[in-house]
Amino acid sequence: MFKFSMFKNRCGLLVVLLICFFVNNTLYAQTLEDVTKNSDPSQYGLGHNLNRFSVLEQVNRNNVGNLVPVWNFSLGDNRGQEANPLMRNGKLFITSHNATYAIDARTGHQIWKAKHEYPKETLVCCGIVNRGAALYKNLVIRVTMDGFVVALDALNGKQVWKAKAAKPEDGYSMTLAPLIANDVVITGVSGGEFGVRGYIDGWEPNTGNHLWRFYTIPSPNEPGGDTWPGDTWKRGGGPTWLTGSYDPELDIVYWGVGNPSPWNPSVRKGDNLYTNSMLALKPKTGRLVWHYQFTPNDAFDYDGVNEPVLTELDIDGKTHKVLMQANRNGFFYVLDRVNGKLLKANPFVSKITWANGIDLKTGRPILSERTKNLKEKGDSAEIWPSAFGGKNWAGMSFSPKTGLAYVNTFNRGWKYTPFKPEFKPGVFYIGMDFEWLKTDGPTGYLKAIDPLTGKSKWEVPSSVPMNGGVLSTAGNLVFSGSQTGELYAFDSQSGDVLWYFKTGSGIIAPPTTYILDGVQYIAVMSGLGGAYAPFSGDKNLKEINPGGSLWVFALTSTNAHNTSKSIKGESILLKQIDTVQVVKKTKRSPLSASAKKGRILFNHTCSHCHGINRVTSGSTTYDLRTFPKSDKNRFINSVLNGKGLMPAWNGKLDNEEVEQLFSYVISD
Ligand code: CA
Repeated sequence: MFKFSMFKNRCGLLVVLLICFFVNNTLYAQTLEDVTKNSDPSQYGLGHNLNRFSVLEQVNRNNVGNLVPVWNFSLGDNRGQEANPLMRNGKLFITSHNATYAIDARTGHQIWKAKHEYPKETLVCCGIVNRGAALYKNLVIRVTMDGFVVALDALNGKQVWKAKAAKPEDGYSMTLAPLIANDVVITGVSGGEFGVRGYIDGWEPNTGNHLWRFYTIPSPNEPGGDTWPGDTWKRGGGPTWLTGSYDPELDIVYWGVGNPSPWNPSVRKGDNLYTNSMLALKPKTGRLVWHYQFTPNDAFDYDGVNEPVLTELDIDGKTHKVLMQANRNGFFYVLDRVNGKLLKANPFVSKITWANGIDLKTGRPILSERTKNLKEKGDSAEIWPSAFGGKNWAGMSFSPKTGLAYVNTFNRGWKYTPFKPEFKPGVFYIGMDFEWLKTDGPTGYLKAIDPLTGKSKWEVPSSVPMNGGVLSTAGNLVFSGSQTGELYAFDSQSGDVLWYFKTGSGIIAPPTTYILDGVQYIAVMSGLGGAYAPFSGDKNLKEINPGGSLWVFALTSTNAHNTSKSIKGESILLKQIDTVQVVKKTKRSPLSASAKKGRILFNHTCSHCHGINRVTSGSTTYDLRTFPKSDKNRFINSVLNGKGLMPAWNGKLDNEEVEQLFSYVISD
């Protein structure tokens, strides 16, 4: 599969065993050496191949039971924490939505903190978060919610440059960690639910000068422009909200593109390039080398932004430089990253109803009957995976030691009803109505996936989908955090839970690891938020409080603080199985005409914080089902002027619409 096992397979009876052993180890060592170059804790994803694999093995499956927290750092912030901590020269650099921190990586003492104020009205679809920084020479470079790229002096946090990258008033925001490739800072934008036109930018890292912009939605006279009818390209979506990867030998950056706008495809017949695609770009110029579209004319918010993970795989006797992606649409793709040719595409989740498979010859999905009827006749349908995808944003880890990809997967479906899309600034531009479907069984799994078949070597079910990302190490360990707050260590070969520790809030961030003075540390952010907690209505999160902090762990010689050891995964992660709150319509009074309009408006404007159909997990936002019917003035005042963390909607919603919202909120 990869070099190591490939040569092992070739060492058959014809070869002297001893030579074979030598060859194996030599190649294994060479491969690990390659990996070591890319196993760098100062980089997002532990390297620009985004493998999230560390060669460190001081903490390993034999001693991980002795892992204890050595310090904890509070951010004084209740928003979701998704940052990938970066470690360089004994300092940790972390980000939140409104601050950047430098911390002593040994002791947890703050070295500096730089605040980033931004208008509360900044629009975000799926969680107010920041996913981390990029380090370049003496600079810490990050993006802000309100569309800036900012470079700070790593010594003192003082701003060195600041560049405007996106206009929040047009529906854009920024949450990703920048990528540095061939001395160019590369950033992307969010906003696929607000009818933006997506793009990727290149910046000169020392000055912040703008080098290039690649629009992910071509204009009519550009290649691909004919895949959009009329002027639909102007609000065509194609956000670029997750960090790409980089191959320095080919000098190519790989970057995923998100969903077309609106979700309902009825107004934009065609393939809608380059939405739901992987792009291969030259970092110095932004020139497109190739593209591959996973989901042409996507209807289901499947995006295509999930991380492109780079490695080498042996396929049918030939070694390929590949790009792997576990796509939201439920298929695990392997592409030849030199030319973009599709090599493999297999399901990695058990339930996919939108397509029957991927045609390897054409690279296109084979649509199911229900998807055809939804698109052609406007029928509603039960679609799996839901908009959360078979996998969401959380970075998977590829271990060259096991040849497996470790992936946080989702098992959630939705009922999808198309209706006529209407564009209105600041309101979801999706043109459909939906509700979550009840899942029989676990709603998520951590899976150890064979990239060539999509099949799992092992899987650990969980009552709440894990959605922070995965770290694998040469110590035969896999780390991943749960939204209920536990950081887990699994055996990379068997999936057995070897250790866990309950952090203060829920974990929706990727763990990382680094070594200092001969001590290996594991670090992870804790702080519930993001898209799933407010949006899903998952009641298992009801008792999980928000509160951002960074936790750092190391081995201790004693076992005094150890929470658990050698416990099978099923017994820990599957705490409660009844996850989804299904609204029992039969027991409810029919909605008034005003409340009916209010419900659609609610789902398009309020649901990303207060839950679809008012059903929220109750953990990070106010549960509007408890709002007193007699308090209309307070409701109107809060909606128009904002309250607490909620932005003001005055100017975006008129009085009649606020009345409709109130009618819906107080209805039975
Ligand atoms: Ca999207």
